[in-house]
Amino acid sequence: MQRKLIYMLSLVLAIVIASLLVYNHFKTPELAAPIDGNRYNRGHNIPGKLYWAGSEQDKMVALTFDDGPEEHWTPKILDILKEKKVKATFFVIGEEALKHPTMLKRIYSEGHVIGNHTFDHINLKKADSQQINQQLEECDSVIYNIIGETPKFVRPPFGFHNQVVDDVVYAKNKIIILWSIDTKDWTGKDTSTVEASVVSKMQNGYIVLQHDGASPKLAGSVEALPDIIDRLKDKGYTFVTVAELLNTQPYQ
Ligand SMILES: [Zn+2]
Repeated sequence: MQRKLIYMLSLVLAIVIASLLVYNHFKTPELAAPIDGNRYNRGHNIPGKLYWAGSEQDKMVALTFDDGPEEHWTPKILDILKEKKVKATFFVIGEEALKHPTMLKRIYSEGHVIGNHTFDHINLKKADSQQINQQLEECDSVIYNIIGETPKFVRPPFGFHNQVVDDVVYAKNKIIILWSIDTKDWTGKDTSTVEASVVSKMQNGYIVLQHDGASPKLAGSVEALPDIIDRLKDKGYTFVTVAELLNTQPYQ
C-alpha cells in the first residue's frame, strides 16, 4: 500500500515538473516594457483603450519616435524612413512642435502618424485631471494649428499613467499607446546595442520605442535604424503606423 502511494506521488511530481518545463519553454519572453493594457486582437473587442502591442497574428512592426520634433535627429530619421519606404509614428511634445512647426509639417506630409505626448512632458501621475486635460488639449491645439489634425493616440511621458490619466484620455475618445520594446536609446546606447535589442526581441505586432528628441545621445539609435529595418524586412515583417497596427484612424 505504502509502495503504491510512493509510486503515485512520484508520478504526480514527475507530471508537475514536466508541465513546468514545458510552460517555461513556451511562455512569452520577458518584456522590458510596461505591459499593462492590451494587445490588439484582430477581430475581437477588447475592453479598455490602452495598447502595448498589435495582434499576434500579424507580422507587423510599428516604429515610434518620442519627444520631437527638432532640427537635428528628426530630419535624419525622416530621411532614413523615406529611403526605406517605411511609415512610423511620432509622439510629439506640444512645446517642441510649437518651436519646430516646419518639421512637424514634414513628418505629417511624408505620411507618418503624429501622436500627442503632452504639452511639456510632465509626469501625468503627479497631475490632477484638470492638469492632465490641459496638457493634452494644449498639445492637441498646437498640432491642429500646424497640420489641421487632432491626434487620437496619446503616449504618456515615461509611460507613466494611472486611473486618473486613463479616465481623462478615454473621456476624450483617445487611445493610450505604450510599447513592446524599449531601446533606452536616449541613454546613449551604441548602434549595435540598439539594433540587437530590437531585432532579437521582435515578435508579431510589436511597438518599438525610440526617440527623435530630448537627448543629445541618439546617434547610435539613428545609425541603427537602416539595419533594423533591413533585418526585420528580411525576416518578413511589414512596417506600419500605430493606426494600421490597431486598424483604426490616427486622427479624430
Ligand atoms: Zn517622452
